[in-house]
Amino acid sequence: MKKKLFVLSGSSGVGKGTVISGFLKRNPQFSLSISCTTRNMRPGETDGVNYFYLSREEFEQSVENGEFLEWAEFAQNLYGTKRAFVEKCLNNGKNLILELETIGALKVKEQMPDAVLIFIAPPSFEELEFRLRNRHTEDEAAIQKRLSAVREELERAKSYDYTIVNDEVDSAIAKLEKIMLEEGGQNV
Ligand code: 5GP
Repeated sequence: MKKKLFVLSGSSGVGKGTVISGFLKRNPQFSLSISCTTRNMRPGETDGVNYFYLSREEFEQSVENGEFLEWAEFAQNLYGTKRAFVEKCLNNGKNLILELETIGALKVKEQMPDAVLIFIAPPSFEELEFRLRNRHTEDEAAIQKRLSAVREELERAKSYDYTIVNDEVDSAIAKLEKIMLEEGGQNV
């Protein structure tokens, strides 16, 4: 039986990675999709695990070939989900989580109305700015770009099926788990 597709978004620095990995540890019937990106690899990341890292040229070729279910530009880099990858995972009996920025998420919902969209929100904009700076992975210009993207994402999040405020990690994981299981993600 075909499995269910969930799309999770959250502004940069909101801690969505921690929430998602905490959830996955407790719910092995879900898997996380691997996207393609043109951004540089960060320390600790691995090609084919965190992302498939493509040159802009390779990425644009895949767009031309119609290989992407969705793709979007975010902070001057391209990100996209390959249609074939999603189909393969869903047919392999696992509920799939896509972790996407909001433009791509809404494109998925248009094409696959059964997909469930969940937004992980920061407790406040100031808190998010603090978390983002605390990561020390980007320079000031990159941080400013991400903050203006955050404002736009919060606006688009109004069209999502659910919003979870990540004020405390364990409680955010529990809220996510409740939604995912109620939405039919429990069928292994
Ligand atoms: P990061 O560079 O921090 O890994 O990701 C930046 C943003 O790109 C995040 O909001 C993340 O959810 C989003 N993202 C990651 N993969 C994809 C994808 O395949 N498609 C889209 N539209 N966004 C993605």
